[in-house]
Amino acid sequence: MSPLFHGWTSFARCGVGILCLLWPSAVVAQESASQGRFADQLYTTPATALRSIELPREHVERYSQALLQAYLRFYQVTEASLLYRGERVDYIRSIVATLDDNLDRSEYFDFIRVRAFEANTPIAHALPSGILLVSHSLVQVTRSEDALAGALAHELSHLDLGHVLRIPRAMVHQGRRIEELRPSDWTDLITHPYTLDEELAADASALRWLRAAGWDPALYGQYLLRRSKDQRFAQRWFHGHLAPALFLSELKHPELERRLQAMRQQGVTLAPRAAAGGP
Ligand SMILES: [Zn+2]
Repeated sequence: MSPLFHGWTSFARCGVGILCLLWPSAVVAQESASQGRFADQLYTTPATALRSIELPREHVERYSQALLQAYLRFYQVTEASLLYRGERVDYIRSIVATLDDNLDRSEYFDFIRVRAFEANTPIAHALPSGILLVSHSLVQVTRSEDALAGALAHELSHLDLGHVLRIPRAMVHQGRRIEELRPSDWTDLITHPYTLDEELAADASALRWLRAAGWDPALYGQYLLRRSKDQRFAQRWFHGHLAPALFLSELKHPELERRLQAMRQQGVTLAPRAAAGGP
């Protein structure tokens, strides 16, 4: 069993606890256990088999729309409350405009469309159609423009590197239709959308982009370090069967420690205490 897959199953065990708290319907958990999870199958499909799969733009649009709706349901946000403009959106857009120079144009989107919303969880997600979902909470918890730019660069890197297309490609590979996805499948896709390799690649791009723009990658690294501490805190709560929604997003990147280690190797100085053990 690969470490990644092992991580997945650990997450799945914990995930049942979260789901039961959020959705009293135990059907979700039963469905996952008895029929196998689509998200698990994604990990058994070799990336090389997926890369060559061509997707019609219409298919990517439809998948992105369905994913957007799933995100809104998951975070209990109405479509009407999504912000398309205003001071907060303009601020995020100004950071994206700087990062945008690094993005290769995709055949699936012409430009990045920022959509902001209120949520207690710090969230940024890029959809394959070029929509970047950002919660106001992310702006607050990152504490600096540098760290916020890092978090946005990381998500845009997933888009740029084609990671966001792995799932729709896997669906085509398996002959699945978007409409077949069950609520539990969407939850899996939202809570654990990327592999560790993809996370590391997105961070490496983000560091390059930050340095090119003159932002300090250390502030992004320190933000991730804070998150990893929050995560450990959340997990302690978790095993005590309390999973405040506030910490849900922390479980999206369970390999934070490995990511921080990679950042140190790429010359990012994290908090003084974390760097103390180094040479
Ligand atoms: Zn990521």
